[in-house]
Amino acid sequence: MIIFGTRGVTFGGRAGEFHCPGCGWTSQPYEHKTVRRFFTLYFIPVIPLDKIGEYVKCMTCGGMYQTDVLQFDPKAETERMRAEFAKHIRCLTVLTALIEGDPNRSRLDALKRVNEEVSGAAFGAVEVERELSLARKGSLDLGSYAKQHLENMTDLGKETVVRAVLAVAMADGGLSAREETEIGDLVRALGMTSAHYRGVLAEVEEEGEWLTHEQDDWRETD
Ligand SMILES: [Zn+2]
Repeated sequence: MIIFGTRGVTFGGRAGEFHCPGCGWTSQPYEHKTVRRFFTLYFIPVIPLDKIGEYVKCMTCGGMYQTDVLQFDPKAETERMRAEFAKHIRCLTVLTALIEGDPNRSRLDALKRVNEEVSGAAFGAVEVERELSLARKGSLDLGSYAKQHLENMTDLGKETVVRAVLAVAMADGGLSAREETEIGDLVRALGMTSAHYRGVLAEVEEEGEWLTHEQDDWRETD
């Protein structure tokens, strides 16, 4: 009797370093494995058939991952998300600065300061003017912007957005009725509870500072 069949045989391949999800995204050695089906005779693989799979194995924790893990760079991803968040803050604060018409000096200062703190880059007068004129041409309000762009925000992200907007709106004193309405729409669009919003509002009013230590941590997680 001839005993034959097929079985998968795993081969080690390319090796290198990757950011391992199982090792807290730290850099670890990996091996790229390929599994190929073999025709077997008396349980011995003799003829290679098709490739049935490939994966990446972490040589430290033994975790096995899809090969696209090799392309994932958590640092670049964090940077990308941060830049995106800074862009949203810029759009929302620019819209806020315009709620009561052309912004005065204190609003402009708050606009500049908040955005520089979030992005870590200068927000110069020319750029501020360009953003303001773009926003004047559009007819977006805070709530619609949030509905269109801010669907998957974390609670901390939502709170930071609201704090940034309040910092600009309250730069020249309290909130006007129009500002209250628009910011109320934003809070609802973000899905933030009114209790949470009132807490944030009270804090910004009392402390005169828009960022708490929590948000500071968020900016310094390198
Ligand atoms: Zn690992």
